[in-house]
Amino acid sequence: MDKNRLNRHVKIVCTLGPASNSPEILEKMLSEGMDIARLNLSYGTFEEHRQTIQMVRSISQKLGLSTGVLLDLPGRKRRTGDTRAVFGEHLQFAQANQVDFTALSFITSTQQVEEVNTLRKEMGIDIPVIVKIEKGEALAVSGAIIDMGDGVMVARGDLGLQINIEKVPLAQKKIIREANQRGKPVITATEMLESMVKSPTPTRAEATDVANAVLDGTDAVMLSEETSLGKYPVEAIQMMSKIIREAETAYPYDLNLQDSGLPEVNDAAATAACQIAHQIGAKAIIALTAGGTTALRVAKHRPDQPILAVTSSDTTMRRLSVVWGVYPVKRSEPSDLEDWLEEARKIALETGIAVKGDLIVITAGMPLMVPGSTNLVKVHQI
Ligand code: PEP
Repeated sequence: MDKNRLNRHVKIVCTLGPASNSPEILEKMLSEGMDIARLNLSYGTFEEHRQTIQMVRSISQKLGLSTGVLLDLPGRKRRTGDTRAVFGEHLQFAQANQVDFTALSFITSTQQVEEVNTLRKEMGIDIPVIVKIEKGEALAVSGAIIDMGDGVMVARGDLGLQINIEKVPLAQKKIIREANQRGKPVITATEMLESMVKSPTPTRAEATDVANAVLDGTDAVMLSEETSLGKYPVEAIQMMSKIIREAETAYPYDLNLQDSGLPEVNDAAATAACQIAHQIGAKAIIALTAGGTTALRVAKHRPDQPILAVTSSDTTMRRLSVVWGVYPVKRSEPSDLEDWLEEARKIALETGIAVKGDLIVITAGMPLMVPGSTNLVKVHQI
């Protein structure tokens, strides 16, 4: 884990393109804070994308990071008559290259997402799906569409063409709120630091836009042409990172500590972990997670503490790259609870998050390493 990433909660997605297509630039982008690499299948060839994915993976590994790869699938916009066969080919490419997320463009209805989910099932593909809200029809039923995806993107570029532009700011707040309520990650995208395509500094309005997305509750912010075509891809990431950190000094942490009121064990345990951490001033929340769900449940409450997601799965680590405040840590599967508590103590010390005497909160599902459940909360003094 890169310790420098522990000082911000909101993640950074960078679209790759000619401006970032060299190992030197990519290494700088990753070092400066890129959490997810986005490849847009609307441009380039499969072979070019395959090479880029390999390059991202190898540099990320060298730096000890668990960078996510998001493959944006064009949908019906650019290729009129984008058939099921073409779409299937895109999904196959995603699967063959083990990307961590696919994004669905130009959704107009829940039925469309259902069709994609059926196709994925038929093809045996379980890569998480980010639904892009960029049509008025989708915005009208955004809650139901978010329910069907694993995450959502506020795709402001096309949304601003599809609905009146003055409606975009409130649409962004609506989508972020709906995603937050459901505990699903949300990415705010497009034109965030647009002037940095040509200039080494953003406008005041752009800096304010990024900060407002952070305060709206977004999990991640996205750079598009800034990093794919622009002259200053590394500077754009540095700037984004600085704006996020500054905005987060005013973030309303712990605002969502109330329980959902539902008789649901998993949600109750994750809520309790955050409530306890808040009340006792714990230094970290450590979530033992097989598939990532426990970490997501904790992140939903936006705790002030870093969420260290301990897992033995590289896939889980990369899938958590989009989630607010979650920092993945790799450990082999613990043999029993005592073993795991000792690991949690070591991790807190190693990362410098806690020192001897500090309190940490640990949460997990028993039996350990079986995906899905969260039913254990333990306070531990280092
Ligand atoms: C957008 O429209 O804002 C977006 C992210 O989608 P694309 O880049 O595919 O147009």
